[in-house]
Amino acid sequence: MLEKIDHIGIAVKDLGQALKFYRDILGVELAGTEEVAEQKVRVAFLPVGESKIELLESTDPEGPVAKFIAARGEGIQHIAFRVRDIEEKLRQLKELGVKLIDEQPRYGAGGARIAFIHPKAAGGVLVELCQRS
Ligand code: ZN
Repeated sequence: MLEKIDHIGIAVKDLGQALKFYRDILGVELAGTEEVAEQKVRVAFLPVGESKIELLESTDPEGPVAKFIAARGEGIQHIAFRVRDIEEKLRQLKELGVKLIDEQPRYGAGGARIAFIHPKAAGGVLVELCQRS
């Protein structure tokens, strides 16, 4: 079961520049930033109600966010759904033959356990499953 939209990941070229819009113009609070080495990104967290905006700035030209921006420009890169039991969810999806990027959960920003579903299985949207506990 999906509990809620945990966050929306937005690929940006420059965190400082993006914060001028989200924080300074829209007035969303910046809760913090974190570098996630495994994903080669620096992430800024901006809570909005029960969900968050995560601004993603690449730290490596070969990283997934840099490649995304090179191919499609800045913009929404993924949507993350909160799940209670990520292993169980991945097992179900595998049984259904859904194409996954991550067969096993890995660690994402904020210590969450995450796994990506392939956009080809999700109408062109990169979907992340996210368990926090
Ligand atoms: Zn994410």
